[in-house]
Amino acid sequence: MYHYIRELIESKYPKIKALNTTEFIYQIEYISKNYQFLTLEDVRSAIKGDKCFENGVVLTFDDGYADHYNNVFPILNKLGIQGWFFPPVNAVTTDAILDVNKIHFILASIPEGENLINLLLETTNHLHKNKDLESYLLNFWKDFNFYDAYDRKEVTFFKHVLQNYLDEDLRIEIVDYLFSRFVDEDIKTFSSNLYMNIDQLIEMNDSGMVIGGHGAKHIWLGKSSENEQIDEITKTRNFLEKINDDEDFVMCYPYGSYNDFTLHECNKQGFDLGLTTIDGVFDPCTGYPLTIERKDTNCFPKTKQI
Ligand SMILES: [Zn+2]
Repeated sequence: MYHYIRELIESKYPKIKALNTTEFIYQIEYISKNYQFLTLEDVRSAIKGDKCFENGVVLTFDDGYADHYNNVFPILNKLGIQGWFFPPVNAVTTDAILDVNKIHFILASIPEGENLINLLLETTNHLHKNKDLESYLLNFWKDFNFYDAYDRKEVTFFKHVLQNYLDEDLRIEIVDYLFSRFVDEDIKTFSSNLYMNIDQLIEMNDSGMVIGGHGAKHIWLGKSSENEQIDEITKTRNFLEKINDDEDFVMCYPYGSYNDFTLHECNKQGFDLGLTTIDGVFDPCTGYPLTIERKDTNCFPKTKQI
């Protein structure tokens, strides 16, 4: 599972959590030596029991970043490896920046040493003088015990609060305020530089890459109402139909969030495979194709292996 892949030193936001393109190349070398790259067709026939593969692997890329077209696609194309790419519909078709990405760039732009908890409290107080809200946040921080192997506790808390803990309207208000305070870039230009466009996706699809679904607004499907989920999944399917004329598609649940209804609706709308963020290795014989486990890029070496 990959997200940003870019040369960080040359980039405007060197603190963004990204894999360097050179590290990606080393990983591809390592994976090529130890695993065999599978295509969508291979995975489907393994699930049907028609074929068996030893150490099969698929590279997946979430969120539709322009990094994937500029830095990943040329490498995979040259090596004849099929990558699976999952762009959210709105990232590609609107001028908006997804909240999840705004939060990444806020975190990459906040000066070193800034206390993130105080910043959140100051911001909510600045926007809404509300003592209840302040104690709500402080209590959440006091009891906060989510563990994330890749982030400091304050960063994990900051992301949780702004990605799903507060009410949607308030989250959006805070994220927009912090984005204009710390990042301060034109949204439209930033969005078109950050994400791929539909022509690039069609080009990648036509070159043998897989373009799958990652929702429209990139929301937590597992926490959304049934109507909201139907809307998200329908928009995803309609979008993918503009890219190719396949019958079946692959879904990748944003934030890895799904519930029984998500699986039912995805299945109904012709998604035969679903990717989660559950850490693990999918077994085509025993696993359920709509809840496929994945490994994070951080699980693999990033330096040249001798
Ligand atoms: Zn995502």
